[in-house]
Amino acid sequence: MAPTVFEELTALANRHSAINLGQGFPDSDGPGELRAVAQEAIGLGIDEGGLNQYAPGTGLPEFRVAVSEHHRRFYGRELDPESEVLATTGATEGIAAAILALVSPGDRVVTLSPFYDSYAAMIGLAGGSHATIPLRWPDFQPRVEDIAAAIAPGTRLVVVNTPHNPTGSVVATEALEAIVRRCREVGARILSDEVYEHLVFEGAHVPVASLPGAGAITLTAGSAGKSFSLTGWKVGWLTGPPELITAARAVKQFLTYSSGGPFQRAVARGLGFDRQFFLAGAARLQEQSRCLGDALTSIGFEVNRPAAGYFLIADARPLGVADARELAYRLPESLGVAAIPVTAFVHPGAREDYASLLRFAFCKRPDVLAEAAERLRRLP
Ligand code: PMP
Ligand code: GLN
Repeated sequence: MAPTVFEELTALANRHSAINLGQGFPDSDGPGELRAVAQEAIGLGIDEGGLNQYAPGTGLPEFRVAVSEHHRRFYGRELDPESEVLATTGATEGIAAAILALVSPGDRVVTLSPFYDSYAAMIGLAGGSHATIPLRWPDFQPRVEDIAAAIAPGTRLVVVNTPHNPTGSVVATEALEAIVRRCREVGARILSDEVYEHLVFEGAHVPVASLPGAGAITLTAGSAGKSFSLTGWKVGWLTGPPELITAARAVKQFLTYSSGGPFQRAVARGLGFDRQFFLAGAARLQEQSRCLGDALTSIGFEVNRPAAGYFLIADARPLGVADARELAYRLPESLGVAAIPVTAFVHPGAREDYASLLRFAFCKRPDVLAEAAERLRRLP
């Protein structure tokens, strides 16, 4: 397997001291209160009593209760913390465990396209075949006929991602319902990646598992990285019916066995924060998205305004650029800015449809976004 596009472009950005609007991580620390809880949990300054040995394989009980409470508070659904929640090392491990648990060699797995890169890698490692439902500029919504065609009889698993990386779309509820109906028709399970659940600026987040008929067939991946600007902590979770959680847990035993206890304790505190905390985070990101979008528009990009998440997509074609990948690998050195070509998130056969598109991360401080825009003014 080759290094990921994030590895490559972050290394290039670092080598040229470029502003990294490629990899999606915030450039400010998460809440001090949570960092203090983590510090206390490792027992800093005391001789004994830190949470420094293996946490239970399914996660600290207080963490699983917090995930369940959070779910009830925001989505009105009850999850049994004992049997329906699994702590994971970031959503990445949850995705890996779910795919390895549910997919056997030769199985058909369907994702939206563009797709987050780890889905394709894990489907490949599981020996599955990877089919896609295309999302097209400008709304990046799945179409009913594409859903029906992709989720063919024999499909084992459908990976949904809403809010969506890299397009920033919130998948329409009708499309999600169509996916669930089709999965039930063909007997497929669903893995719903909802790591951007709290970063929605337009519309509202609808958990796939809350839709009619979905609860019994859906595993949902969540992450503290995005909601709390703590991407480096790698605290995630899977939720779903006991049968599917047990299957994912069986795999997790041999991926990591268990995930770090101190950060779980801190995230458990964060999951209890009031609604205002999460709304304020989304409002800040929306403003950053607007600023970067306006700047890129004034430079000459055609900008797609995202409804959620960390990223916006900009078309470089109006600037005379047909190959955004070539531009992306040149930009860190030439102008001191990094962005990701959208072709990194599609199969080779679909690259042409996304060839001139770049993904920019706007989860950065306003002064950093302004400086990046200043540098990009020298394009093409
Ligand atoms: N899914 C999506 C859609 C993502 O964008 C990311 C990256 N942030 C992940 C999963 C991985 O999340 P984590 O960092 O919690 O492993
Ligand atoms: N999820 C982040 C992104 O899409 C970073 C993930 C990674 O570096 N693997 O940019």
